[in-house]
Amino acid sequence: MNYLENDHSLESGFRSIYLFGRNTSTYKFALAKTLHELSKANKTFITLEELSTYYAKYLYEHTKTGKKQINMSKSLFLNSFELYDKGNISWEQVMNMTTSKGFKDVLDAFHRLPNVENPHIYFEKVIHNKQKGIVLTDNLFLLNEGNQWENIQEEIEGRWNLVETAFTQKNPKLEVNYDEELQRLFLVKPITNQNFMTSHMRIDLTSARKPLNGYQKGKCFYCFRPISILSGLENTSDIDHFIPFNTQAYSSIVLGKDDLGLNGVWNLVLSCKECNRGSSGKFAHLPQKELLHRLMTRNEYLILSNHPLKETLIMQTGKTKQERAKFIERLYNLSAQRSNSTYRWQPRELFGDSF
Ligand SMILES: [Zn+2]
Repeated sequence: MNYLENDHSLESGFRSIYLFGRNTSTYKFALAKTLHELSKANKTFITLEELSTYYAKYLYEHTKTGKKQINMSKSLFLNSFELYDKGNISWEQVMNMTTSKGFKDVLDAFHRLPNVENPHIYFEKVIHNKQKGIVLTDNLFLLNEGNQWENIQEEIEGRWNLVETAFTQKNPKLEVNYDEELQRLFLVKPITNQNFMTSHMRIDLTSARKPLNGYQKGKCFYCFRPISILSGLENTSDIDHFIPFNTQAYSSIVLGKDDLGLNGVWNLVLSCKECNRGSSGKFAHLPQKELLHRLMTRNEYLILSNHPLKETLIMQTGKTKQERAKFIERLYNLSAQRSNSTYRWQPRELFGDSF
């Protein structure tokens, strides 16, 4: 997996778990959020009972939304949250169920990635004084000191939102769309009524920053400056259309806003404010053509991530890597032709390595 090639950082190792790991349930996300919380604690050995209190809390929050947390019909463990909600069992019984059934595969599967070994581990399963539990590794505490840790918490939640919605909808043909005004991602689901009239239902997913940031490794798409996806900070990222559309450079009469599908996830990147709208910012300029390769790389990361981003990228840009590359290049060239200007923007300065 290219994502981890030449980049053995603790952040990328941890991100690859929730961005690329296979999911038949959302347990990995609950465990990732649990580890995030535990990284701030002052101890390394955590019993299964203690782990349950965090883990069940996160899962309960998500089961309450009514979205499916598992890609099959029934789970005794998940059912216990429903029973608790109806008042049929106590929270203590939920805890017992979590400790005995909730960690069946997730502790072993957590670090597992498709086709590649994770360079880092963040905990180990142990039995200590006859108590089952995990030992947190130094790696986890080091993550807590890094500048991406708060982003990572948001990213896990964003990824979780996408996957649980995909489990719930079960229709792989649903496409992730972008609402520019709200800066959120959503799905559009066609609904046919009894008179065979089709209407569309909009299903809200998540803020657009959350699922995009991890695939750029928390860096500005253009200049690699560290960015944040928390709102209101100095380095809060902008959501940028790589190929811009909101500009007089394109005739809006000939070219309706969405004619080229420029609001597709494939064309959305996170950028620092300086690059997007600083003194020598990109604004509505078309970027240098060399940057297309970076966009293709980022998009191939989205393709590796499974539902529903993978399906969306395939629908929007093509089935094979070659088709997708051609699609993007064709749109770039088309936009360049229709542009009144031959100026092509690039960042003045770079602040790190590519992703
Ligand atoms: Zn930048």
